[in-house]
Amino acid sequence: MNTTRRTLLTGAAALTAYTLLVPPFARRAWAQPRFSADPYTLGVASGSPRYDGVVLWTRLAPQPLNADGGMPAANVEVRWEIAHDEAFRKLAGKGVATASPDFGHSVHVEANGLAPGRWYWYRFMAGDAVSPVGRTRTTPAPDDAAPRLRYAFASCQQYEQGYYAAYRHMREEDLDLVVFLGDYIYESSWGRDHVRKHATPEPYTLADYRIRYAQYKSDPDLKAMHAAAPWLVTWDDHEVDNDYANDRSERLEANFLARRAAAYRAYYEHMPLRRAALPNGPDMRLYDRCAWGALAEFSVLDDRQYRSHQVCPRHDRGGGSNVVGDQCPERLDPKLTLLGAEQERWLTDGLAASRARWNLIAQQTLMAQLDRTAGPGQTFWTDGWDGYPAARRRLLDFIATRKVANPVVIGGDVHCTWVADLKPDFDDPKSPVVATEFCGTSITSQGAGAKQVAAAMDENPHLRFGGPKRGYLRMDVTPDRATVTLRALDTEKRADSGISTLATFAVENGKPGPQKA
Ligand code: FE
Ligand code: CA
Repeated sequence: MNTTRRTLLTGAAALTAYTLLVPPFARRAWAQPRFSADPYTLGVASGSPRYDGVVLWTRLAPQPLNADGGMPAANVEVRWEIAHDEAFRKLAGKGVATASPDFGHSVHVEANGLAPGRWYWYRFMAGDAVSPVGRTRTTPAPDDAAPRLRYAFASCQQYEQGYYAAYRHMREEDLDLVVFLGDYIYESSWGRDHVRKHATPEPYTLADYRIRYAQYKSDPDLKAMHAAAPWLVTWDDHEVDNDYANDRSERLEANFLARRAAAYRAYYEHMPLRRAALPNGPDMRLYDRCAWGALAEFSVLDDRQYRSHQVCPRHDRGGGSNVVGDQCPERLDPKLTLLGAEQERWLTDGLAASRARWNLIAQQTLMAQLDRTAGPGQTFWTDGWDGYPAARRRLLDFIATRKVANPVVIGGDVHCTWVADLKPDFDDPKSPVVATEFCGTSITSQGAGAKQVAAAMDENPHLRFGGPKRGYLRMDVTPDRATVTLRALDTEKRADSGISTLATFAVENGKPGPQKA
């Protein structure tokens, strides 16, 4: 292959893309930037991998907790390189991108023309400031049977409630990929036993959200995990506001869509996302697919932006609530949607067309039903799939009737590990197991205690395992089985916490449902 030619094309493509994004004469350029402090305080990241390319990210912010990141209101040219080796002897691509104050001086490079199934190293240069080196990879070629995929998935990292020790351990796991399923930041300060504090009050504006992301991304263990492997990301509610649904906030605030627009833009600025995800006001197309050769396909969903409002809310409030089953018949309305009609169609079309051995549905929250009342009577939390049971059943019926190959749902949100059988009718013991669910716990955010988890297991026989500790889940996918290892921290209150394995479950090819391994 002609590396020089490919390099030139890659650079040219990147320049073209960013010329479209930022009108060329709109901004004064800072021609020879000289930084008073390291501009790479937020590290580097990569994500949204394809077989021929990956997104490279950084943001210039010498003073991360300032609204402007300590940068002047001028464009800065940032050179980037991607190489076959850590010493950058053999380049696979290079180019120049523009870090614009309009996007908080973030840089998103779509490095294309790469070879499938390979590891690469990348870095950025602005003036004479060189970034740390990140490591990333492409996915296997589309028809590649791919012997393995090893990834971890995580969610919910309230900064004040713990340290990111989980990421220090995740780095030792020899991962191909990290999947993050929401609550990357928290807008609010809540919970007990804080080990550190948000620097600023609850965010509402773009400047506020930028500072919140910058504080979270300054964490050394989080930065190191971003630099170690590509990430696939989606959000949940706390990237904007607790329990928001579509255009409605929990506190029914006026102008919520303006707040959502600020939050979505800050999210885009801080994540390794493709241009397809570029926000347009309060709208941002985040849901996406990622194929791992012929072995696996991720459908990464957005269950916040398009959902119906939660039913039976508390008086004068939006958001979720616990409802007694027979006191809220609205919950059963088949018109309620968690994904929105368009995304739901995109998902089922994709699942129907998929030729992957494993179909991994990456979404935000627990899909299995969770009845919170012991014995007769049922209580459900309306912010999760339990608030949208007809939509859940529609999806699970589709998976069963269309015989989607090896469907495995992964999730987060509930700050507890759940391993579950997914059935079209959770109240019918004879309803078949049609898919498997692994809902990951949180990186730091506090959740239910051991007693509550045990009670939920007793009441909901399709929940096969519950784990109240913090941590993450690792999944090893081969053509024959998907093996999930539940990794639990000793304590999230210490950055040097140890970790151990709570349990291991396997899903065999062709046989839905988790088996204790
Ligand atoms: Fe959370
Ligand atoms: Ca019950």
